[in-house]
Amino acid sequence: MTALRFTYQARPARVVFGAGSLEHLERELLALGAERALVLCTPGQRAAAEALAKRLGERCAGVFDGAVMHVPIEVAREAQARARALEADCAIALGGGSTIGLGKAIALDGGLPILAIPTTFAGSEMTPIYGLTEGGLKRTGNDPRVLPRTAIYDPELMMSLPVDIAVTSGINALAHAAEGLYAQDANPVTSLMAEEAIAALARGLPALVADPRDIEARSQALYGAWLAGTVLGTVGMALHHKLCHTLGGSFNLPHAQTHTVVLPHALAYNAAAAPEAMRRIARALGSAEAAQGVHDLARATGAPLSLRELGMKEGDLDRAADIAAANPYWNPRPVDRSAIRALLQDAFDGRAPRH
Ligand code: NAD
Repeated sequence: MTALRFTYQARPARVVFGAGSLEHLERELLALGAERALVLCTPGQRAAAEALAKRLGERCAGVFDGAVMHVPIEVAREAQARARALEADCAIALGGGSTIGLGKAIALDGGLPILAIPTTFAGSEMTPIYGLTEGGLKRTGNDPRVLPRTAIYDPELMMSLPVDIAVTSGINALAHAAEGLYAQDANPVTSLMAEEAIAALARGLPALVADPRDIEARSQALYGAWLAGTVLGTVGMALHHKLCHTLGGSFNLPHAQTHTVVLPHALAYNAAAAPEAMRRIARALGSAEAAQGVHDLARATGAPLSLRELGMKEGDLDRAADIAAANPYWNPRPVDRSAIRALLQDAFDGRAPRH
């Protein structure tokens, strides 16, 4: 038996979960001491944000629908100025990681409390990690001020998420949990959460593909996403996240789809170096082996399997391997440039993960 030794940092967010839980919005705003909320969304989710504004009545200061991927600094400044002009005392981020990221930029600037209403499985609402893009470069930081104070998880809001996006977003969440299990600073509590997250996602995703109207399936996946987001916000991520940041940041590949394609290969790379984590991932998936189990889940749910189909150019794989191998994150298996190049080729071709 190995000695138990760990640091566990709990994050102070309040979570209200369940179908119809949006009805508690006003109660939750009052609990934050807020009276004038600025509602944030993407242009595509304007109608949902307007409905929210109507529900809030005079407690709504306005709607800002300019959220886009990777939080460009210009958009963040515009939203910050709007919040000040409208004398908002809170921001409600209704949406996925892009909208919640914009909320974090507002919290960083003016200290406004954020109430997050996630509508994807990305998990950003549970993390103190923020990103801002300036002059084409995305910088990330970690600041407890950006952590949303409250998150309302209402599976009814997930019903409008198209099935293909739901699946890749769910596997994006699964990646946080899987890497959390072999994190350098993993602890027994986050590992319990991670295993439960993977099991809930493995139940929910195939069920929502089988019946897109099944709210219980979407609830299971959302529950898994919450747990996975908590893991992401608490322990460090490794090779898989480094590869996805490289492919998204330098080659503009789509976020959740890239996570979906890369994860089986990153797990295969780490398999021998993290056997206990792999056993737990496999157990949660109900499969014999972790990497193959993720590959099978992606295949069964109709997710993309190759970087080629995401628009990656084969001629860029060398440069991607160089970037990913430079300044690597801590990883259970040392990051070797030629092995990473082979991993990327497998991901590009959409092969089954190596054993
Ligand atoms: P997203 O927020 O970009 O949303 C994708 C698209 O789906 C958008 O057009 C959005 O309007 C639409 N959409 C979202 N929910 C919908 C719903 N329920 N119904 C219909 N349409 C809906 O995608 P994402 O994958 O959630 O977030 C990706 C971004 O979040 C990336 O920039 C990533 O870096 C960041 N992220 C950050 C963290 C963190 O901890 N800081 C964690 C995860 C992701």
